[in-house]
Amino acid sequence: MIQRHSTQYEAVLASDRWRLLRAEVIRRAGYRCIACGRGGRLDVHHAHGYQNLGNERPEELQALCRDCHTAVHASRQLFNAGCLKVLLWIVLIAIAIQVMSWLIVSVMHGLTNS
Ligand SMILES: [Zn+2]
Ligand SMILES: [Zn+2]
Repeated sequence: MIQRHSTQYEAVLASDRWRLLRAEVIRRAGYRCIACGRGGRLDVHHAHGYQNLGNERPEELQALCRDCHTAVHASRQLFNAGCLKVLLWIVLIAIAIQVMSWLIVSVMHGLTNS
C-alpha cells in the first residue's frame, strides 16, 4: 500500500533522529509487534497522530508488524465511516419519531374533534 505523506514526514523518516527513535520504540516493544507478538520486520506507528511530527516521544509510537499496521489504519477509516453511519441513523430515527408523534397527535386531534 502506497501512502501519501507530506515532505516534512519524508524528511523526518530520513533523519538520524527518527532512525534512533524507531530503534528505541522497537527495542522497548521487545522486537515484537505489540498487537500480535510477531517478530521480524516492524513498522513504527504514530499512535497519537502526526501533530508532534519531528518531536515524537517514544510513548507516542507503537511497534507494529506490517499486517497489524495496515489493519490499524484500515480499521481507523472503517471507524470513521461507521461513526458517520451511526450519526445518519440517529438523524433518521429522530425524524421518524417526529413524524410519528405528529401523526399520533393529528389522529388524536381528529378523533377528539369528530
Ligand atoms: Zn502484528
Ligand atoms: Zn501508522
